[in-house]
Amino acid sequence: MSNNDFQAISSRIDGKRDDLIALTQELIRIPTLNPPGENYRDICEYLSKRLENKGFSCTLVRAFEAPGDSDRYPRWNMVARREGASSGDCVHFNSHTDVVEVGHGWTRDPFGGALEDGRIYGRGACDMKGGLASSIIAAEAFIEAHPDYRGAIEISGTADEESGGYGGVAYLAEQGYFDPKRVQHVIIPEPLGHDRICLGHRGGWWAEIETKGEIAHGCMPFLGDCAVRHMAAVLDTFEEKLYPAMAARWTDMPVIPDGARQSTMNINSIHGGQPEQPADYTGLPAHCVPDSCRIVIDRRFLIEEGIDATQTEIVGLLDDLKTNRPGFDYELREINRVIPSMTAKDAPVVETVSAAIRDVLGQDPDYVASPGSYDQKHIDRIGTLKNCIAYGPGDLEMAHKPDEFIEVGDMLDSAKVMARSLQKLLLS
Ligand SMILES: [Zn+2]
Repeated sequence: MSNNDFQAISSRIDGKRDDLIALTQELIRIPTLNPPGENYRDICEYLSKRLENKGFSCTLVRAFEAPGDSDRYPRWNMVARREGASSGDCVHFNSHTDVVEVGHGWTRDPFGGALEDGRIYGRGACDMKGGLASSIIAAEAFIEAHPDYRGAIEISGTADEESGGYGGVAYLAEQGYFDPKRVQHVIIPEPLGHDRICLGHRGGWWAEIETKGEIAHGCMPFLGDCAVRHMAAVLDTFEEKLYPAMAARWTDMPVIPDGARQSTMNINSIHGGQPEQPADYTGLPAHCVPDSCRIVIDRRFLIEEGIDATQTEIVGLLDDLKTNRPGFDYELREINRVIPSMTAKDAPVVETVSAAIRDVLGQDPDYVASPGSYDQKHIDRIGTLKNCIAYGPGDLEMAHKPDEFIEVGDMLDSAKVMARSLQKLLLS
């Protein structure tokens, strides 16, 4: 592998600019909205048709019985693999094919893929059909230039990342698709920017907390026990004890933005007493003391805290209330958990992509970690594969917004970095 190889692959990718644009537009025009999970089969067939023409073997995998999977909305995934001329490592590019709802405020057709001033517009342009298209162009350019590469290249298009990834990467990982014996390097082209490598993400713990009371007539509340007042005590104790404790903790992970380097918790919802009536209901509320109040918490924890300490801290505060506050009782139900993931900075895929960024952009990469999470969690925990990063074109802050777009120049740069990484990993 020489510097000439690098110049040649860069100009080859520049020559595919129109193909890259058309591919991104066509992907945007398949409206893979999640929820409910529409057109997954269509996008998998589109991808496999294209990649089979380039010598890949493609497998469509339905995540039977995963959350959301039904005959109406089947969770289809596509895995493409192309063997090289001799044995070696396998490099896998994983992109989710689903996009979030459109929302209000668009001035362009969200599924039109309009090209204007070097930007392609549409829902999923940035998150992450532009990244998927860049990885396909990178792999195709590499294969054309080096048909005798060693190892293997895989490209997957997976479902449901926006709703947890259980019908997508988690399912494939359970089926062995991310076994370290099969795949050695994973790049997820999420929109982190062409000069940034995302090493991992924080953890998350979602739970519903319910306080209990006793129903009675509202004119004699002393004959009942108000679950909403008990919940107020929960919120007080969070304000006085939990939030200050969390604010004092900072992670060494390079989480962006800065505010997310702390431990955080959102109170997602609160419901107490009588259910809300439809907007056209004209009656008055009945006079009742509420016997139940529920909140949903969204606790994002640091890798240094861990899931056990995170849970114990909250349960401890609730148990203190149970001991000290007359009549207090509660139930806690876990909704979901995500374990933090952090790939080492000296892992082979990190060092390779870092060097490729230096070659292509002439600058050192920034290393970041995600404030939320993405499919790396499943590759790490279920697949037990630690050599995984997110690297791809686009601005994360554009994700899920109206008039979402991706810059063509950004996609070309990222495709060059990905192709350069393939040269480093698959050429002897
Ligand atoms: Zn995404």
